[in-house]
Amino acid sequence: MPKDNLNGRYDILFQPMKIGPKLAKNRFYQVPHCNGGGYRDPSAVAEMRRTKAEGGWGVIFTEQTEIHPSSEITPFIEQHLWEDKDIPALAAMAEAMKSHGALAGIQLAYSGINGPNLYSREVPLAVSGGPILTFTSDPVQARTMDREDIRNLRRWFRHAFRRSQSAGFDLICLYGAHGFGVLQHFLSRATNHRTDEYGGSLENRSRFLREIMEDAREETKGEMAISLRLSLHEGGAFGFSNAELRDFIQMHGDLPDIWDLAHGTWEECSGTSRFKGEGAQEDLVRGIRALTSKPVVGVGRFTSADAMMRQITSGVLDFIGAARPSIADPFLPNKIKEGRFDDIRECIGCNICVSGDMTGGISRCTQNTAFMEEWRKGWHPERSRPKGASDSVLIVGAGPTGLEAALQAAKRGYQVNLAEATKTLGGRVAQERSLPGLSAWGRVADYRIGQLAPLQNAQIYRDSRLSAEDILALGAQHVAIATGASWRRDVVARFHLHPIETDPEMPIFTPDDLMSGGGPTGGKVVLYDDDHFYMGSVLAELLVQRGCDVDFVTPAVKVAEWTDNTLEQGTIMRRLLEKGVAIQTSKAIMSIAAKEVTLSCTWTGRQTLHGTDAVVMVTSRIPDAALYHALKSRPDDLVHAGIQTVRLIGDAAAPGPIAWATYAGRRFAEELDTIDDHGDTPRFRREIAALALGPSRLP
Ligand code: ADP
Ligand code: SF4
Repeated sequence: MPKDNLNGRYDILFQPMKIGPKLAKNRFYQVPHCNGGGYRDPSAVAEMRRTKAEGGWGVIFTEQTEIHPSSEITPFIEQHLWEDKDIPALAAMAEAMKSHGALAGIQLAYSGINGPNLYSREVPLAVSGGPILTFTSDPVQARTMDREDIRNLRRWFRHAFRRSQSAGFDLICLYGAHGFGVLQHFLSRATNHRTDEYGGSLENRSRFLREIMEDAREETKGEMAISLRLSLHEGGAFGFSNAELRDFIQMHGDLPDIWDLAHGTWEECSGTSRFKGEGAQEDLVRGIRALTSKPVVGVGRFTSADAMMRQITSGVLDFIGAARPSIADPFLPNKIKEGRFDDIRECIGCNICVSGDMTGGISRCTQNTAFMEEWRKGWHPERSRPKGASDSVLIVGAGPTGLEAALQAAKRGYQVNLAEATKTLGGRVAQERSLPGLSAWGRVADYRIGQLAPLQNAQIYRDSRLSAEDILALGAQHVAIATGASWRRDVVARFHLHPIETDPEMPIFTPDDLMSGGGPTGGKVVLYDDDHFYMGSVLAELLVQRGCDVDFVTPAVKVAEWTDNTLEQGTIMRRLLEKGVAIQTSKAIMSIAAKEVTLSCTWTGRQTLHGTDAVVMVTSRIPDAALYHALKSRPDDLVHAGIQTVRLIGDAAAPGPIAWATYAGRRFAEELDTIDDHGDTPRFRREIAALALGPSRLP
């Protein structure tokens, strides 16, 4: 039974709120967010947005929608609204968004200095020309728009307004945040060097916004609500600062129907939980509401109803904006409304979802394994398909993989036994949550343990290390081996594919040693990182905390290079430098003696000796698959025991990030009692571009 949101304590979050000519049913506002699918995967994106509608969001936005081919951000896959042909895919998304009474919003973007146009090959047009400013340092410059270009741009925006309306959207968000949109480029003296009526004073720099806003109202006959998404603070000597933003809002308080405010760059706005807590933007947004009669929405990775309430009741925000919390739990609003607080699947702030966009893959979420699989695989964040013909499932290992497998199989109705070797559930997250900055990662385990607890058909056995004999004796119909992996104690990873000469006198430690309290507590330590994700830098911080003198050595050209994809690399580098860690990039360890290591420059091969008391290896992981192989080597015994399938899943199969583990657990449960064609057909649906039939050449 729902606990009725504690006697209406959170009712204020569910008040209907006006946004210009539209009425939002509550204050839950899914701000625009990318998903790695965009125009390539229209049905997958639409179905993902539909789950948000079902989960109770009052306002739901698309991702960035590029309005014209002279401004696109390939290789990132967003939406296009370049011609009428683009309308049907977006109309399908608008329909999905509105399916449960939410307002449907479209975010319109013209990227200007931020768009290299690698696909369209158009010359980029910017407020002021110069090198394209994006993550990828494309060797391309943009041309400065002249007055005719600006008139054209206004007309292209008008086309986009008309198309947005005919696609069925209720709201338009004009994108001027994160350094990504031309509106910000006009406002900011960093990117606006113009000397005409569009440059110079704040009034002049605001001109384009005023014109575009008028155009939007006229083109949509005042029937659509218009939001303006601006950066709360752009750094640098010339950036559009928080003070200037406040001046701007004071001057133009009534310009949009709602102010959507988001901190500086995307890295600043979407910081990971390692570096930013819930509500981190509050200082920048507090007081802005008093400058305008229009509502204000802001973000802050809000997952707690009390934190949301505080934002509203203290007058900081009118709407609770959320991207990642809405990804991790599309049903967050409904769960709060129904008082189902323990059921909230809290975002852990890992930014794996962001990495889907950054890598041109499709986004995934560590917590919500159904994210972007709603259409591709028919998975749902809350509902489960009924179980198949068999009944019993044994899962060995209660890490993220095993916990998710057990939860999803139990929700489908199977009789589930989950055996864990240790006294603690959670596997790797039980360990990693105690590392500096990673405490939120424990939510992966906590959520699943909490959800499993009331399920009568799921039994958890701690302190139960199972052998092949034990498993044969238990005789479940399906067995999942989710026994995880352990870190290697040698250099083998990417640079070295084989071990190197190593003197046993040198103390060598692994991340597992450090996580269980072992490892150096002082002296000189070489931390060798050929993993390139978070672990190396987190352990470097831990070693500094323990009083060690740390050299971070990596064959990569920069520290933790994959964390570019989680928007953390810059922060990691800064923190390591501030903590006194010596950084040695493009260096590989070639041999290890009793008191020193030989390092080699990865470019020149020049070797140097480096004295150290210990080495910490952050290289790669060895899957713990022995139990699986022991079972598979006894096919007759498996048949005799009534075991129909044995699967090796998660880190025990192929070590990866936690999101890969939870996904593997879900997949195991979803595929129980399905036909296994041994990979002959893809296990997910996809859309294939329709051929444009017609003449092979343009006239
Ligand atoms: P994953 O990320 O794939 O879930 P983890 O390493 O986090 O992998 O978790 C694996 C879990 O499996 C650990 O908690 C470990 O204690 C447990 N485990 C390993 N071998 C056995 C076994 N033979 N019986 C039961 N549990 C096991
Ligand atoms: Fe949150 Fe991580 Fe999921 Fe992104 S991937 S929504 S940061 S839990």
